[in-house]
Amino acid sequence: MKIKPGVRFTLRSPDDEGSLDFTTSVILFNSYTASNKKLIRSALNPSIRKNKLIPNEINAYNLCIHEYTHYLDLTTTAWGMEFLYRRSVALSKIIAQGKSALSVAMLNAAEIKMHNDFNRVHRQVRLGDLVTKHGLTYSERHGTVIIVHLYINDTLVAETSISMLSILEANAVAHEYEGEYKWVACTKGGVDNIQHGRIDAKFTQLLEDSSRLEYNIIHILVAIHFPTQSLRHRLKVVATLCRIALNMSSMDLAIFANIISDRILNQYLGDALCNDLCRGMSRQVVAFYLVLMLYEYIEEIGLTTELVAQNIDESLPQLVDAMLSHRGFESPPSQAISDLEFDTYLKLLRQKRGKFILPGTLRAAAFNRKLLGTECFTSRAFRRLKLPDIILDDHSKIRAPSRIRANVVSHWENMYDECSELDYLAQDPDVMKKFHMPPGANGPMQLRREIHLRRLMNMEFDEP
Ligand SMILES: [Zn+2]
Repeated sequence: MKIKPGVRFTLRSPDDEGSLDFTTSVILFNSYTASNKKLIRSALNPSIRKNKLIPNEINAYNLCIHEYTHYLDLTTTAWGMEFLYRRSVALSKIIAQGKSALSVAMLNAAEIKMHNDFNRVHRQVRLGDLVTKHGLTYSERHGTVIIVHLYINDTLVAETSISMLSILEANAVAHEYEGEYKWVACTKGGVDNIQHGRIDAKFTQLLEDSSRLEYNIIHILVAIHFPTQSLRHRLKVVATLCRIALNMSSMDLAIFANIISDRILNQYLGDALCNDLCRGMSRQVVAFYLVLMLYEYIEEIGLTTELVAQNIDESLPQLVDAMLSHRGFESPPSQAISDLEFDTYLKLLRQKRGKFILPGTLRAAAFNRKLLGTECFTSRAFRRLKLPDIILDDHSKIRAPSRIRANVVSHWENMYDECSELDYLAQDPDVMKKFHMPPGANGPMQLRREIHLRRLMNMEFDEP
């Protein structure tokens, strides 16, 4: 069917001017139409010849980098491929089976939607001079969740969850701001102090905005734990840790669960949280603990601010690996097993390609994943990444510099009936639930405690 311009689905990134639709993988810029095409095309080609910073162009470029980062998270990580596979299976059965086709796909979708349920702003103030504390809570709908409480002068001003959306948005924001540095450098030949100050001030506004907790909570935690690092260094920390979390193999997620289990004081909810991780769910938990554990490790080994900055510039993944091995990982998280999981889903998707994956996406996904293994930021690889066209509000299109040659509008129209059914069901609270391990349910964490206890008892009995 022909889709009316203006249609947007529920399961999308909540960005103001555009969004990535997780139901279709389509990028929609609803604040731009054909009349803005020239502006966006020019924005995508920053060059020293212009030598002028045009705010509308910077905005358009930032939006492209932000939404394409969401797209790349979805198509180049272990988490994303699993999401796409489960979504494709669900969409292929949805018309015939309705709700029952969605149970597995909802595991992943509900993780994206959970953020709204836990956001509370108690005082409308700017989030400066913050102290954060975290705890666990349990909800029948979402399972065990980490909640961060934000205090100013001992007063609770806001609280929010560490959700999958908060990881996806933190990552997209990190790439967007790094993209702005890149855009300025391409246009002015470098980033001078005035531009550093301008971008810093703009970022501080985002950090202090209590209405944008899904975007800023991870950045707030990184700013609190790494206050002496420059914004650019902190952006790299966020982008690297989020990607590690999104890309970890399920085996390493289970090892990670074992490592963090001992540091969670609330054993009842902690076990439930870690049992979920052992099932390959709740990757957001990994990003959260990586921030805390990296901070603690740096304090413990006594790295100076300068050495931390140098490590961030040159070898951040190796620093994270060293930290993990210090904490009990026997070997660093395995890229090879993550690749194997990614390739397995890729193969499964190829076999059942159907109409729910834009032609060319899977080949581009494998290519982009390889490219992002060496280039950390979307903006740095932007001209080489193979990306789909962007749809504007009137359904005109913007071409990516190195594009997937397929018609995104007709692809969307082709799968519209199934996707709109999924969107309708996604608003049903009975459907939008995450199947999870409830507290008290026996799982790998309880088994681990039993083994520890048995060993301890044996040791005592063996003593003369
Ligand atoms: Zn976003």
